[in-house]
This record gives sequence, C-alpha cells and structure tokens, in this order.
Amino acid sequence: MDSKKVYKQGFLVKRGALIKSWKKRWFVIRGSVLSYYKSKTAKFPKGLIPLTPGVTVEITKKGRKKFVFSVTIPQKRTFFISASSEEDRKEWMEAISDTIKMIKTDKVSLKNFQLLSVIGRGTYGKVMQVKHKTNEEIFAMKVLQKGMLADHQQISHTMSERNVLMRIRHPFLVKLHYSFQTQEKLYMVLDYVPGGELFRRISEEGRLSTDRTRLYVAEIILALDHLHKMDIIYRDLKPENILLDQEGHIKITDFGLVKTDLNKKFGGKTRTFCGTPEYLAPEIILDKAYDETVDWWSLGILIFEMLVGIPPFYSEDTDEVFELILRAKLKIPFYVEDEPRDLIKKLLDRNTKTRLNIDDIKRHAFFADLDWKKVYNKGYKPDFIPNIEDITDVGNFDEEFTEEKVEDSLVQVSAIGKVDENAFDGFTYIGTIGGIGVMND
Ligand code: AMP
Repeated sequence: MDSKKVYKQGFLVKRGALIKSWKKRWFVIRGSVLSYYKSKTAKFPKGLIPLTPGVTVEITKKGRKKFVFSVTIPQKRTFFISASSEEDRKEWMEAISDTIKMIKTDKVSLKNFQLLSVIGRGTYGKVMQVKHKTNEEIFAMKVLQKGMLADHQQISHTMSERNVLMRIRHPFLVKLHYSFQTQEKLYMVLDYVPGGELFRRISEEGRLSTDRTRLYVAEIILALDHLHKMDIIYRDLKPENILLDQEGHIKITDFGLVKTDLNKKFGGKTRTFCGTPEYLAPEIILDKAYDETVDWWSLGILIFEMLVGIPPFYSEDTDEVFELILRAKLKIPFYVEDEPRDLIKKLLDRNTKTRLNIDDIKRHAFFADLDWKKVYNKGYKPDFIPNIEDITDVGNFDEEFTEEKVEDSLVQVSAIGKVDENAFDGFTYIGTIGGIGVMND
C-alpha cells in the first residue's frame, strides 16, 4: 500500500488515554496508519494508530459523547473517538476497516522459511540465509532483536530501513520481499546476494584494478542517485554494505542508517547516530546540516579504499579518525592513475558547495568511456565473477558466521513462544512503532 497516500482526513474528537478529556484532533488515514494531530496545520502527529489486521473498529458508548466508535489494538489500547454525525461516524468506520482489510492478509511468518546458515551479523542482530518452504526461493533474512532497538531513534532507523526497502526496485539495491515480526524480533526477508562483501574482496586482494573499480563505482553511483531521487540519503556507504551478486555486479544492502525525508523532518540535523567513522563526511562530524552530498564524500573514501586497500583517513582511535577527516591533507599513493585520483580529490572536498554533484560525477573523465544506460542494464561484464557452487552456497561469507549453528536461532525463535498471530503481517512493523511510545495524546 502506498504509505504516502491520504485515504481520508478530517476533524474528530478523541478521548485522552491518561486524562480522560475529549479533545478535537485532525485525523488522517495515510497508508495503513491513522494519525492524529493537534491541528490541521500541525507538522507532527500527536499519535499514530496502526490499522493492521487484528485491529477492530466498532460502535460504542462512552460518556455523554455522541456518535462514538472505538478502535482497539489487541492487548495495547482502545481509542475512543467521537464523530460529528451518524454519517460521519459511518464514513470513518468504513474507511478504517477498509484500510485494515486492504493490508495483505496472506500471512507470512517465520514458519514459511527454512533457516539454512548464518551469513552475517550487524549491530542489532544477525543475517541468515533462508529458503521459502513452498516456492523454494533462497533469501537473506535479517533478524533484529527489538530489545537491542529499545530507544526510539534506533527504531526509526529500522522503520526507515523497512519503508525504504519496500519502495525500492533497482538493479544495484537489495530488495525487501517480506517483513514480519514477533514480540521480540523484527524480520526482513531480502534478496540473497551470494557473492559476499566487497570488503572481503579488498581484504583478500589487497587492492582492486582501476577497471574493476570503475565499474563497481559506476554501479554504486546509479544506486545512490536512485536513493537521492527518492529523497533518501544513504549515509552508510562502506565496503561491508556492498555485496556482489552471482555475476559479480554490486548490490547495496543494509539501509539501517538510511535517513528518509520523514526522519529528516523528525530528526532535524541530529547527530545521535553515526555511520562508520572512516566514511563520515566532515559536515556530519561537525554536526552541520547536510544533504545527499555526504554520500559523494563517502564514495570518494570508497574509491580510495578500493584502489589503495585502506581508507585515506585511518586510525585505531575514533577521535583521531575525525581529526584526520576534518584536517589532514589527502595523500594519494603514486600508483593511483590520474583520472581516479582527480575524482577522489574532487569528492573528498570538505567544502560541500564545490564537492562534485551527480552531474559532475557522471561527466567526470574517469567514466568517459562508460555508457550509463549500459551500466544500468548490467551491460558491462565484471572481471571478477564470484565462485558460487549453487544458489544456496555461502562460501563467500565469513566462516566466523557460516560455521555458527543455525539451530541456535531456532531455539531462540521457539523460545519466543506466544507470538501474536496478527503480528505476522508485513505491515505490522508500523504497529510496533505505534506501540512504542509514539502513541500519546
Ligand atoms: P547488516 O546487518 O545489514 O549490516 O548485515 C550484516 C552482514 O550480513 C553484511 O555485511 C553481509 O555480509 C550480510 N548480508 C546482509 N544483507 C545481505 C544480503 N541481502 N545477502 C547476503 N548477505 C547479506
């Protein structure tokens, strides 16, 4: 469902949760969420009510108010809302129940997948290779422990990750196929990208050739540009997040730190979360307002790392990394050819106004012989083709992970026990957000 589309809006009167007074609020059904605002012009909602399967809406009586109906989120809260007339109440109740119905009812849950291997671990949980039991398709399943995501900021990252991934269709970006949750975990089922991390290629090969770097970089540029066109700043570009598919083309994964337009509005120019220090743009370190050019800075770091083997501003100590990013003179080894050297310099420009933008980048001499359409269509064949035995092969991921017992996670999963059946819908993610403190008066 289109999460931006407004299905219905208007004034209703809502009963408070703690202070039981009735207050006039501006209600909006957008996507699968009913939000209410203090006024018609208020920027931020006072509360969000997820309209996911399991939520019920019925005519009720409450106090002396007329035309009251209730919206109940099982085991969480019942909202009492009063409409202006019988007709108005009917319209709202229909719009709400239609929205609930509209959400996919073909429930996908963990039960639909066979867990094959552990392939990676991020900050908040692990990534497993899984097989869909009925259609036998192989996916990567990212499992996030809600407990690790306790604070609101982190929840909104994951939320943005899900929203972003759901909207994306691009040859060089990982696609989200399903998402669901239990009481303790969030699950995201993504394309399984079998060729392993670009990080591993660099660490195994020391550094990459100019031609290989050029094609990887061109593909990354198209992916980033696509995100930027959707108002998304990626912010977390680094070799660990760049995977290789079976033909050796790149696919960017991990949108955990993606900053959507929504987050931008809510978060302002917050610095509460950071990408990897070595890849952070100076303006982020300095807590200045920033835009998508931060990704072009990170791209400069990445090109340097591909060609040299290590990032240009590096230290064991994070503060020193910041210091180097802000002040150190950029030193590019002699063996880096003129064109990539010039591109790196112009991307690692601390002045955001003169840093290259997408048009300059695409026109840069380093890409002079590339046809961008052909890049998009995977028309250039990568020199390096990952060694992949079959679609379930995990040989390109770290043994540190793949040797982990996948049964462990099964034990954990069954330990969850009482799982809310209604929670197995792809859209219940929003419900979680509603349940975690966004819901107030
Ligand atoms: P993340 O938590 O997204 O940073 O993922 C941690 C690691 O899991 C990554 O660095 C990859 O090695 C692996 N990984 C993540 N997503 C995928 C995917 N879609 N396909 C294969 N491996 C993945």
